[in-house]
Amino acid sequence: MILDCAVIGGGPAGLNATLVLGRSRRKTILFDDNKPRNAVVSASHGFITRDGTDPQEFKRMAHAEISKYPDVRIEKQRVHRINKENNLFQVETENGEVYSAKKIILATGFKEVLPDIPRVKEFYGKSLFSCPFCDGWELRDRPLAVITNDPRGLHMAKMVSNWTNDLIIFTNGNKLFSLEEQALLQSYGIRINEKKIATFIGEDGMLHNIQLEDGTTVLREGGFITAEWKQAASFGSTLQYTLNEHGGIETDSWQRTNTEGVFACGDTRMAGPSQLIIAAAEGSMAAMSVNAALIEEKFNQDKQHA
Ligand SMILES: Cc1cc2nc3c(=O)[nH]c(=O)nc-3n(C[C@H](O)[C@H](O)[C@H](O)COP(=O)(O)OP(=O)(O)OC[C@H]3O[C@@H](n4cnc5c(N)ncnc54)[C@H](O)[C@@H]3O)c2cc1C
Repeated sequence: MILDCAVIGGGPAGLNATLVLGRSRRKTILFDDNKPRNAVVSASHGFITRDGTDPQEFKRMAHAEISKYPDVRIEKQRVHRINKENNLFQVETENGEVYSAKKIILATGFKEVLPDIPRVKEFYGKSLFSCPFCDGWELRDRPLAVITNDPRGLHMAKMVSNWTNDLIIFTNGNKLFSLEEQALLQSYGIRINEKKIATFIGEDGMLHNIQLEDGTTVLREGGFITAEWKQAASFGSTLQYTLNEHGGIETDSWQRTNTEGVFACGDTRMAGPSQLIIAAAEGSMAAMSVNAALIEEKFNQDKQHA
């Protein structure tokens, strides 16, 4: 059987794409190995009607909704390779199964690379986060940290200052800011600590103190990290799509990549704010775009037959 579409990645982007394809009667398989970047959190915020929902519960509800549509199927396995042959895509899973599809939606997300500081992973997702719009409310009015080793720290600190008046930027041994930037931050009561961080101290993921390499500790109850991003999966060597300056898959506003038949949505685009509702909206757009392309192709073929 030739699928209309293979959706790779079952976070909110891929799930919403699959829902819209199912409702469009498109033979679709969603492949997902269920390792999303928000696996570390037990509640996600900012998605209307789903504020505070556990991401795994979100996924369970999405699967239940999608399973109402007979043309779609969910395969809980990782896609290993995708090749394009004569306008058809061959999708190979890690189990060695091969599926043929007319269109591909890439919704594989990205992974964070956290700074190499002892115990950081114990706190990430519980009291240290990456997006103040997602988790700032829960940390409001507490003594907070911005942990950064790149210039994005300035922007992050300005954002986080919306939720607390007690903010310290930890540059972990780096000199990041110009004199002008330092003066600006100081004028808003935001302090800078350039010492190297030895470790994080706290219990059950809740931060109490940041310990510095000189032995001093600084009371902090949470914060935000400017982590590095890398693709969770890459099919670029065979699909030949273009990447943007952040390493995200470039698309137009219809989620089309520059490779005919390949669409991308959600975090894998690395093109601005990263949130569940934005990923889901892009998934919906990608599915509509796939559908529109298939309909155009059908009408063009019918015209030739007439
Ligand atoms: C700590 C933290 C807290 C967050 N809190 C919030 C919040 O409160 N509110 C909010 O809106 N956003 C939050 N986010 C951001 C949110 O998680 C992402 O924006 C969102 O998950 C992106 O959705 P996506 O579908 O693009 O990717 P993902 O959710 O990452 O899903 C990608 C899926 O594709 C799968 N996959 C990858 N490669 C393959 C492959 N080769 N084959 C098969 N499957 C594959 C992965 O396993 C994963 O299941 C948070 C992120 C983090 C890290």
